[in-house]
Formats: sequence, structure tokens, C-alpha cells
Amino acid sequence: MRGATLFSYSIPLESGTVLRDRRVKARNGLLVRLTESHREGWGEIAPLPGFSAETQSEAQFAAAGWLESWCQGEQPAESQLPSVAFGLSCALAELAGELPSAGNYDSAMLCTGDPDELFNRLHEQTRPVAKMKVGRYEPVRDGMMVNLLLEALPDLTLRLDANRQWSLEKALQFARFVSIELRPRIAFLEEPCRTPQESREFARQTRIALAWDESVREENYRPVAEPFLRTIVIKPMLTGSLTRIRALLAQAEQAGISAVISSSVESSLGLTQLARIAAWLTPSSLPGLDTLGLMQHQLERSWPGCSLALIPAGELEAVWQRWS
Ligand SMILES: [Mg+2]
Repeated sequence: MRGATLFSYSIPLESGTVLRDRRVKARNGLLVRLTESHREGWGEIAPLPGFSAETQSEAQFAAAGWLESWCQGEQPAESQLPSVAFGLSCALAELAGELPSAGNYDSAMLCTGDPDELFNRLHEQTRPVAKMKVGRYEPVRDGMMVNLLLEALPDLTLRLDANRQWSLEKALQFARFVSIELRPRIAFLEEPCRTPQESREFARQTRIALAWDESVREENYRPVAEPFLRTIVIKPMLTGSLTRIRALLAQAEQAGISAVISSSVESSLGLTQLARIAAWLTPSSLPGLDTLGLMQHQLERSWPGCSLALIPAGELEAVWQRWS
């Protein structure tokens, strides 16, 4: 007998959290629990406003329809909505014992706010890797900051992300402030320019390695080798099922491009699953999952070493349920 529950959650975010130029006060989403023959599988379905095409109510409607069929013993096709396909595929993988329990809980450290605090945290790491958002302020400021960090911490590797904010000219202004000899320690710069074509030109002129993030989610994207492209960033919540993610990873590997599993600001339940997916499918690359610090509490499963309060799913509102 099969049963399923959808829980809805709303986790307050630290004040001042900004996602794609919007201040966001809470992260909302759904948890799904599947049960079958005394086994359980969990998943998270959390469209990210400003990034996902689907809304939470669309996701809930699609998930409920899928679950209704599944509970009746059918094997419904994957949802067309990436968040729904991803969350349900995780729950199914847990139920089938396919998602290994070991996780990669080391993550590229997200630089937010206070540079002194960042400095202290990076100093504690033996091979520090940090991720910094650029493109929000003046390119000159970003360039000086990057140069300063790389100079001050000789072991530091930086991942940068401009979210397609710069014109080619602004991107080049940024690079002018980063010494040529420090540039190889920029592991990659995600989507520096408004268009991939400008980003390619930027990389050609500056020799700074590129990563595609937004491009990966464009229709019909296929990883292919290109000059200066080092990495693709995969945000499973915005991409789709584990099957879809494994196909992308296989194509990337064939093309000689590395891949980084990255957060879409999931709850601790979703983040620990991403850490497990990273350990399983991208074992040689450090995931980008350092987003729990934006949240005021954890959900159902805790991230190792995280001291935020843990709220069990039982305290959440069940918005849809079928008993087994
Ligand atoms: Mg990005």
C-alpha cells in the first residue's frame, strides 16, 4: 500500500536576504513524504521565485495529481515542472534506497556581508574556496574586492557569479582591477555578461575561466566543450528529475567540463539531499550549498554541525494527504 503527504513550509530568512534584486523575507516550499511497505522517502518541492517558471501553487497542484496516481499503484510520468520532478524523484530514490546516505557537506563558502567575518571563516580552512556574487555594485569595487581577497589569502580559490549583470565593457572594467597573476585562482566566473556571446569574448580577452549557470537551464542546452568553459552549475530544483540531472552530468563529463551541484536556497532537508547527490554524482567537485546561514531554522533533517533550531515536519501544515 502506498501513502503520501505534502507539507507546506515557510522559513523566515535573515533580514536583508536578496535574491535577484528582490528582498525576500521567507523561503516557501513543500516537503513530500512517500510511504510504501513501512519504508519512507522524502523530497522537497520548492520553486524559487525569480528563477523558477512555476509558482508554488502550480507545483502543489501538479504534485498532488502525480501523487494521486502514484498512490493508486501507477508509475506516473515525470512532471514537466522542474521543482516537482526533482522533489518527487528524490523521494522515489530514497524509497528505493538508491540515494546513498553519505553526503559532501563541505561547500564553497558564500561571501555575504561582513568581510571581516568572511576573512576569519576562510582563515580556518586549509584549502579555502569561497563564492562571491559580483555585478551588483560598481565593477571597479568588485574587481578591487576580488583582488584584495586573493592577495590576502594566498591559498584561496574564488568562484565568482555575475548572474549576467554586466555589459562586456563593465566586465572588462572589473577584470582590469584583478592582477593577471591572480586570475588563475578564480576557479570560474559564472555568466559574466548579458549574453553568452559577450561572456565568451570576455573570457577570450581576460583568460578568466567561465561557468554556465543560467545557460544550462535554457531550452535545448547541451554541455559541449568550448574555449574557457570550465564548469556548469546545476541547480537541481530548477533543472528537473535525478534522471535529467544524471543525463546532463554524463554529457558534461563527455565534454570534459566539470559540474557543480548548487543550492536554490532549499531547507535543510533539501540541502542535505543535495549534499548526498553531490557526493554520489559529482564526487570530485565541491558543491555550492552554503545557503543555510540565510535561514532562521532547519526542517526535519539537520545539516551536520548546524546549530539552528530544527522543526520536524509533523509541526507543518499537511496540505495534501493519502493514507496507506
Ligand atoms: Mg549563478
